[in-house]
Amino acid sequence: MMMVLINKMTDQLSSEVIYFSWLIFIGVFLVTLLWHYRGKLNEKKLEIISLTKEKTDFQKVFNNDLAFVWEIDKNKQNLLASINVCTVLCLDKAAYPGLLENWKNSVHPEDLPKFINYIEQLEDKVGTPYAVRVYDGNKEVKWLETFVNIIYNEKGEIKKYIGTAVDITNRKIEEKRLKEASYYDHLTELPNRKLFYKVFEEKKTNLGTDSEMSIILLDIDRFKIINELHGRELGDQVLITVADKLKSILGAETFIARESEDEFILLLENASEKETKFLSEKIINMFKKPILIEGQAFYLSISMGISRYPETAQDVLALYQQAEIAMYKVKENGKKNYHIFMTDDAALIERKRRIEFGLKEALARNELYLVYQPKVNLSTGKAYGTEALIRWNHPMLGTVPPSEFIPIAEESGMISEIGYWVVFEAIRQNKVWHKEGIYIEIAVNVSALQYEDPFFVERVKQTLIHHDLDPKYLVVEITESVMQDVEHSNKVIRELHELGVKVAIDDFGTGYSSLSVLNNVFIDIVKIDKSFIDGIMTTVNTASLVKTMIQMGKSLSFHIVAEGIESKDQADFLKENECSFGQGYLFSKPLNPEDIPTKIS
Ligand code: C2E
Ligand code: CA
Ligand code: CA
Repeated sequence: MMMVLINKMTDQLSSEVIYFSWLIFIGVFLVTLLWHYRGKLNEKKLEIISLTKEKTDFQKVFNNDLAFVWEIDKNKQNLLASINVCTVLCLDKAAYPGLLENWKNSVHPEDLPKFINYIEQLEDKVGTPYAVRVYDGNKEVKWLETFVNIIYNEKGEIKKYIGTAVDITNRKIEEKRLKEASYYDHLTELPNRKLFYKVFEEKKTNLGTDSEMSIILLDIDRFKIINELHGRELGDQVLITVADKLKSILGAETFIARESEDEFILLLENASEKETKFLSEKIINMFKKPILIEGQAFYLSISMGISRYPETAQDVLALYQQAEIAMYKVKENGKKNYHIFMTDDAALIERKRRIEFGLKEALARNELYLVYQPKVNLSTGKAYGTEALIRWNHPMLGTVPPSEFIPIAEESGMISEIGYWVVFEAIRQNKVWHKEGIYIEIAVNVSALQYEDPFFVERVKQTLIHHDLDPKYLVVEITESVMQDVEHSNKVIRELHELGVKVAIDDFGTGYSSLSVLNNVFIDIVKIDKSFIDGIMTTVNTASLVKTMIQMGKSLSFHIVAEGIESKDQADFLKENECSFGQGYLFSKPLNPEDIPTKIS
């Protein structure tokens, strides 16, 4: 039939037309054939790396340096990927693994079991992100996060798995950095408490109870005052310097962390009690030398509370609390020392809590009162003034000494209220004596924190006006620490002088300043601390230091008051060396106000 038709056509058309028609026929045939096999050819290409899939819009989303799409056949043999896999994983096309079996060589060994498991259970992983580490073409580790989806055929059978992979290496690096940052203190670059606890737990697990460890809580005495007087920036410098000093002295065997603002915590591994004591002394001695910051010398002192694993406790929090209690005991006993926790110490912390709690009510309940210790002229033995000393009658604890509750009041912010009550009450009492014809001066102790109050001088002035007391009968006693900021001290001293009030440095010689500081402040009175007076009869150095102070007082025109004179020998020594004033049990203990008139007259 076909041949008949062709013959017919041959009859009608010229030979060129026939030739042309054949060409069209063959062309159409070839195009149809190509169209039919198009998908198969593409799949062939995909077996290496699918280039064509990129052309869809969907793929364009992933056409960046951080992501690619992939597919896995239903038998989980081949892993095909969009061309971008080469960029993401720094691969040559030729090096693309293709077979899933080959991919396993690129997976980080630690992640391999999970990777195998993931592939085996692909069906159940739809919608669940999965992150895996793989080595890229440069043998660098890359983190890929992938999501899978399943493609089914018309019969509902699995045809293949497709998914996305995103390079999350940068995110992982940032996460690691943040995690590390959460373990370190930014200022000192030391580990923080969190890491300390973690390291302790690790060591405990590794070493068991056979190994002894010491936990040392280390606190800078009166750091709050350094911060108040010199500002936080300088306070920060002090902390950095302390951290560096600790690192230099303790070496690698000791784990050092910053606990909180001015507290550090040390972990001594395999340390006996003897070794712990030795090291604690070494630290205390190191801080006997001043530290230099911006050319200024700072005298710091350190208190340390110690607990022992497994002896005193096994749990890190219990050990920490014991170290805190031991530290509190050191502070109680005059700081600058260390103490190893003993079971009896626990009662102390309870007492501190009660004091802190009770202080809030003490003023309102009239539990606070003042006693007055006479100050005498050493040559005549006659009292010329008194010092007001606070007392607290606690309903349950009985008499709580100021050395115990004043630091707690400073810590808890109660000191200002208490301090102004003292100023008010002392001035009131002195006016009462004046009215009785006893014209003596009165000294009040002012905490360094109160001295910082910008309204301090004004409030003193108002109280003097309120009670109508001549300001020349008032002395303000401030501690040596205030003198570290000479500029501020002199400003307040000048204002007090303008008012007519005198200023004394209390406890001189115990703390921060050297004798040279006396050249720079316009002080009226220097009170030599009892610890020096205690030593004048026994220690040659102390005796000569006291003589020097007295001489300085003469040349710089300030009065010297010797504190805590208990024996006649001490009083005689002071008189011989021209110290004019003194105070101490030898003359009188602090007295109730009603006993002062008889003592004075
Ligand atoms: P301070 O200002 O150096 O007071 C002298 C302390 O030594 C007083 O102790 C006093 O009773 C005691 N003392 C005086 N003479 C002798 C002596 O011969 N031998 C002995 N062993 N001790 C003597 P107190 O009253 O317990 O006060 C202790 C510290 O508490 C005071 O030391 C002062 O720093 C602080 N303080 C007391 N009252 C106040 C106050 O109203 N405000 C503030 N901010 N602090 C106060
Ligand atoms: Ca005093
Ligand atoms: Ca004193």
